Amino acid sequence: MGFFLRTILLSFVAGLLLTLALSAQLKQDVAPTAPILGFSPAHATAEHQLETAFQSIPSPEKASDWHHTFTAEPHPAASERNSQLADFIAAEWRKQGWEDVALRRYDVLHSRPRSVSLEMIAPIAFTASLREDAYDADPDTKNSAVSSSYFGYSASGDVTAEVVYAHSGNPEDYDLLRKNGISVKGKIVLVRYSNPYSYRGFKALTAEREGAAALLIYSDPAEDGFTRGKVFPDGPWGPESHIQRGAITYDYIVPGDPTTPGWASVPGAKHIALEEARSLPKIPALPLSWRDAKPLIENMNGPEAPKDWQGALPITYRFTGAVKAHVKVDMDTSMQPYTVVEARIHGGELPDEWVLLGNHRDAWAFGGVDPSSGTASMMELTRSLGELKQRGMRPRRTIVVCSWDGEEYALTGSTEWGEQFADDLKKKLVAYLNVDESVAGAATTAGPEGLSFAPSAVASLAPMLVETSRDARAPSGKSLYEAWRATSMRDSKASVRPLDSELVETRIGSGSDHTVFLNHLGRPVINLGFTGDYGVYHSMYDDHYWMSRIGDPTFEYHVALTRIWGLVALRLANADILPFDFGANGAALEKFLHELEQKNKLKSRLNLNKLHARIADFEKAGSSICSILPVTPTRTWNFRA
Ligand SMILES: [Zn+2]
Repeated sequence: MGFFLRTILLSFVAGLLLTLALSAQLKQDVAPTAPILGFSPAHATAEHQLETAFQSIPSPEKASDWHHTFTAEPHPAASERNSQLADFIAAEWRKQGWEDVALRRYDVLHSRPRSVSLEMIAPIAFTASLREDAYDADPDTKNSAVSSSYFGYSASGDVTAEVVYAHSGNPEDYDLLRKNGISVKGKIVLVRYSNPYSYRGFKALTAEREGAAALLIYSDPAEDGFTRGKVFPDGPWGPESHIQRGAITYDYIVPGDPTTPGWASVPGAKHIALEEARSLPKIPALPLSWRDAKPLIENMNGPEAPKDWQGALPITYRFTGAVKAHVKVDMDTSMQPYTVVEARIHGGELPDEWVLLGNHRDAWAFGGVDPSSGTASMMELTRSLGELKQRGMRPRRTIVVCSWDGEEYALTGSTEWGEQFADDLKKKLVAYLNVDESVAGAATTAGPEGLSFAPSAVASLAPMLVETSRDARAPSGKSLYEAWRATSMRDSKASVRPLDSELVETRIGSGSDHTVFLNHLGRPVINLGFTGDYGVYHSMYDDHYWMSRIGDPTFEYHVALTRIWGLVALRLANADILPFDFGANGAALEKFLHELEQKNKLKSRLNLNKLHARIADFEKAGSSICSILPVTPTRTWNFRA
């Protein structure tokens, strides 16, 4: 906070002088343009001109070409292909005119399968394929480099035991099993990717705490398969053999390399022993397609599970009974190099204030949505900013861009980079703008309003994000703001258009590369992306075919994302005074506290009046800081009661 207040006050004095000087000149020779939060009128005019030039550069054809390149082969972390792509990005950024292009290497604990198997040995014999089917329509599905089923950081192990179905694998599910007299100690627990959602690494820790010997997590068609709509290759949902790979690291305990908790895995760094690493699972685990899980479920003969535990397969889901299986997981868990690619355009006036952009590069297989849609949008963004620079533009602040590695494992590349440069980042980082999946939905099934724009942001940046969306073009040709309001009304099934304050999700969880910057370094972050029907997450079907036939055939959404990402970056980089709205931040804090009180019935047990009062002070002070911005927020940032 100190940094920003200082920056705001210093910039205020400079900005005020500039504003006075320029606005006198402006009155004579420049037509008035729409104001921009944080910009003097003259600078707003120049910014609008720059943004118009910027928005005309990104092209859907180029985005499609980038996407094709990045999804040509599977490219998980620590693979040869992912390392080639790092070199490719570095070379492209140099060609695009970016400065100080560097490859940062981290030696981290990595995890990949040597061999995996699952057999049912009673009441009948069945061997799970642990593989996904090829389709003639999509030759990429025949690529032999695609992995079998596995979970990153699963323990190795060989377990033969009874199978128990534990619904979503959350603590309350085990409570219900206990009530029914069923223990999972020493058993193989079968759970599903679930609604309500819980992270697979949380399911793993819960199973371990309950004393299970092994864990299987399968994709029920109720969540992402035929129940939702047409399946691949005819539609966006997951076919019978699709497998949701993923990591099961306890990265909510220790993010990044499990063997360097709190410091960077630069070459030569100290690493703790594996036995001391708190984020490593201790039991073997495997992800399953529903086709591989079905024989296990339908051969149980024990008590019937309750209605809300039943999935979409046409069988009766039971707690347990008669099914015995043999799971064998042999993992190669060893030190491997990860590479973060970094580049910048130095700021002309405030080079020590950084606006950071980032996207991860590694994918479980081809990464059609996750992350190569984001990578394609990023490459169009760096190409466009590079072109503006070659036309003579230099931002006031420095723009830094990073291609992260090993996000899928434990948010590893961004965490290690954040740890390596923590001192600089705490002083210099204005904001981090993350794009993981730029287009995680099917435009072909989205209906007339199109895909949903679903950003999240710290509340202090929410007003500037909404304001910026008014000037960004959506694929429909309308402003992104209009498209956003329409899809948000559709998705919430509301009868009235949302307030501006209801558009941005300000409750930011973990799950992507913004984590180290927000949760460990305390810097403001924004996540951007479009969402819609998407059932092939982390499977081999998340590929170029899915994106170019089903997801975003025109690649217009990729470009729309490039535009909003670039506009937000340019506004943060060029503003006279950084457009943070701490009044909005205070209002969000009050809302969070109110929700906390309601949900936990805190009011009767704890007097939080002082905290409410301090938040009110903060909100008031935040709003009065806002009033010194050259343009103050015009809309009140209120929440519905
Ligand atoms: Zn991702």
